[in-house]
Parts: sequence; C-alpha cells; structure tokens
Amino acid sequence: MKTTLSVIKADIGSIGGHICPSQQLLASVREFVLQRGKALLIDSYVSHTGDDIAILMTHRRGVKNSDVHKLAWDAFVAGTATAKGQGLYGAGQDLLKDAFSGNVHGMGPAVAEMEFEERPNEPFLFFAADKTDPGAFNLPLYLAFADPMNTPGLMLAPDLGKGFRFVIMDVSHTEGDRVIELDAPEDLYSIASLLRDTERYVVESIWSRAANDIAVSASTSRLHNIAGKYTGKDDPVMLVRVQKNFPATGEVLAPYAMGAYVAGCMRGSHQMPLMPVLLASGVSYFDGPPVVSCAAFCVHEGKLTEPVDAFAHPFWDTVRQHVSDKAIDMRRQGFFGAAMLPMAELEYTGIMERLKALDAGFRLRS
Ligand code: MG
Repeated sequence: MKTTLSVIKADIGSIGGHICPSQQLLASVREFVLQRGKALLIDSYVSHTGDDIAILMTHRRGVKNSDVHKLAWDAFVAGTATAKGQGLYGAGQDLLKDAFSGNVHGMGPAVAEMEFEERPNEPFLFFAADKTDPGAFNLPLYLAFADPMNTPGLMLAPDLGKGFRFVIMDVSHTEGDRVIELDAPEDLYSIASLLRDTERYVVESIWSRAANDIAVSASTSRLHNIAGKYTGKDDPVMLVRVQKNFPATGEVLAPYAMGAYVAGCMRGSHQMPLMPVLLASGVSYFDGPPVVSCAAFCVHEGKLTEPVDAFAHPFWDTVRQHVSDKAIDMRRQGFFGAAMLPMAELEYTGIMERLKALDAGFRLRS
C-alpha cells in the first residue's frame, strides 16, 4: 500500500512583525489537525520556520486529495481566528481565497506532496524556507542530483549513476501548469539554463531514472501570480527522499553550506544569502536573512519517527557565521545594484506608483 507525504504551509500571523507565530497559534493548528485528522491521517507534524506554519501529514489518499487539503485549509482558517484573537501581525495573510475549492493550489498556501511505495527503511528530509521563494531550492537540488563535484554517489553508486529526471515549472505561466522534463546528465546544460532564472523556472519534482521513483517534491506557488500584488514572499517547502536510489542525506545537505544569494528578505525585494537554521527558528536581521530548516525523519507504514534537526550540528555554526558576514556585506550597498531585486520582481510592489508619478515629471529637452 502506498504512503503519501503531504506538507502544506502558510503564514497566518506572527508576533512582533514577521518574526514567528505564537505558541498559542501553533497549538491551535496542531490541535485542529490532531482532532479533525483522526480518520484521515496516519500521522502529522506541525512546525514553524520563521513566520510560516507547516503541516506535514502522512496518509493513504494520494496527492491533491481534497479531504487532506481541506483539513489543512480549515486548520489555517481556525488558526487565523486564534491569530486575530491575539492581534498577531498579518493574521490570515496567506489565505488569499474566501472559500475552499477542491485543493489548496492557487489559494495561497504552499504545497509539496509525494506518493510512493515505502522501502523497508524510508528516510526523508523536510525542508522549509522563509523570506525567500521556490527558486531558492534550484541550486541545492541541481548540485545534489546532477553534480558529481557535490554528490560522489553519482560516480560511486550504480543506481545514482543512471541519473535523475528534473520536472521544471515555468511559474510565470498563470493559466495552468507549464512544465518540462529534462534528464540529468544528458540535458545538464539545458537544466542549468533554466534553473539560473530562479524567479521564473523552479524544480517541481525530481525522479530516480534507475527506479522510476519520486525523489523530490517542492512547492511552486508564486503569491503575486495569485493575488496580482505583493502579499508576502512565497516561502517554499520541500520533501526529499534520501539514501539507496537517492543521494545520501549529507549529499543533499552539503549545498546549503554555500549560503547562496537568493531572492527575498526585507519586503521580499532583495538578494540575500540563505542561512541554514535550527528547527523553530524565527527571523530577525533585515526581516531575514532568508532561512532554511531541515527536519530529518524515517517513516514506516505511515508512522513518523521524531524529527531530527539536520542543521543543529556544530558544523553549521561556522556556516551561519559566514552567511551573517555575507548578509551584512550585501546590506552595505542598500538599494544599489545586486542588493535589490530587478524591476520585474518589484512590479508587484508600491514602487510602480512612485515611478508612474515621476514619469509625468519627465520632459523632452528641445
Ligand atoms: Mg514567511
């Protein structure tokens, strides 16, 4: 019997601006999922990264299941009432539609789901990022699944050596899902050509070509494409199966030591380095820096082990120091050049009104 992992996350309110949700809010979402999910779910894990609450659920109903999605949606609606009751900032901000319709795609919350036949031992990683967008995972996934400089398993393990299939989505196409499938290593340069454009092309899933089995599922929602204006960044979540046919845990984690610059941070409008953080971390400096957490699990017959914090090891303290230095350096140049996102991404912010007003002040010199 197949197991489904579904993670659905939303920002429904936080303390002191965009720092983190309240304990009461987390408890209300957790309690709702436990009570209402009894008949539906095998197991669940409710957590937060920055100001986002993620509901990880295991069940037998496959991906895009309307009952599972409705449970998460209703939990966020119930949580929003708690957030409003406490006067939390941005209460309900990611719930962009009034009524639930089938599944949460296109309604505001981010979703990553995968269905698979469990291996006898089934380790997986649950990533959640805040103050950035789904393109933040492009480089870590490319390195982990396509580059032997990062992943020696591509050379050393015969099954990994058969390569991986990347399913990449054009997230600027709002009328439906526009995707392309490309094989690593044959299509390496094409994959890189798309993934370099992190605001338009993002990895939706990755598949083992040896086993024809899903390895990665990542969220792809861009909130401005739903709301038509800036309502918050599209903080992504991702599930990655590891070991055996897939890269080892350490090969999947290694790229995060880079602290690569990603879109996000203050008002979702900057380029700042991605910091791997502890589970249940908030954000701080310049409404950032962009953060990513990773909870490692095993799942057996749908039951989850306790989460292990993959970025808690002392090794990552050095990385965090390095990322802080990079962040402060970048902030020295304020709005200038690479520090702020290009105009295409600022189109959904208030700067457009200012530029429009200024435009009327220009005159052609004779
Ligand atoms: Mg957030």
